[in-house]
Amino acid sequence: MNVLKKYSKYLLDILFPPVCVSCISPIQDQKKYICSDCFDKITINTAYLCPACGKRCAGKNRCHQTPYQLAAACQYHEPIPELIWYFKYHKLEKIHTLLSAILIVHIQLVLPNIETYSISYIPLHPKKERERGFNQSHILAQTIAKYFDIPCISLLKRTRYTESQTKQKGAQGRYTNIHDCFSCIDQENISGKNILLIDDVTTSGATLREATQTLRKYHPRHIVGLVIAKVD
Ligand SMILES: [Zn+2]
Ligand SMILES: [Zn+2]
Repeated sequence: MNVLKKYSKYLLDILFPPVCVSCISPIQDQKKYICSDCFDKITINTAYLCPACGKRCAGKNRCHQTPYQLAAACQYHEPIPELIWYFKYHKLEKIHTLLSAILIVHIQLVLPNIETYSISYIPLHPKKERERGFNQSHILAQTIAKYFDIPCISLLKRTRYTESQTKQKGAQGRYTNIHDCFSCIDQENISGKNILLIDDVTTSGATLREATQTLRKYHPRHIVGLVIAKVD
């Protein structure tokens, strides 16, 4: 047996000891990516947030009229940004499972009639999807669809390549960057339907607003935008 191979686990543990993806403190269990302190910091929202002002919506009250309701599972606080980053750029299976579980718990809290919905997702431009190898929102949509036994459908495509929304300055910059960048690829599956539309993170809401406005042309019954986190 190759000597290096025999001692590889020992060597790798010394060279790259397992650490928490958020606080980088060492963790004992190699199979975990997050320490228990960081895990305990995860707080799941128990109500919708207003897409316009970010306020918690109590019951059916809505402080602003918006083209969709916003189900944001968490706020964009530690350790959520690090978990999303690792999922988005490394597709770690355990982190995918954790993020899906967070979304599923949130859906159960805010959307008791989830069985009346279809799930769709914010598409990436084909060039970006090729570079990354996958679309994180599509993967989450498929997992959630399977869990609740509801259809996962591709409704939108990007009509042009856009720079990352996180690089844009202010709400106006985000709006201009994303404006008119979606078109509908499955009009049949929208009219009269309840649609849950997944994105990973929302800041100003420009992406979800643009996508829901594209879908609204085909008369859906109701649209809920679902995200892992809302940036304050
Ligand atoms: Zn930690
Ligand atoms: Zn509001």
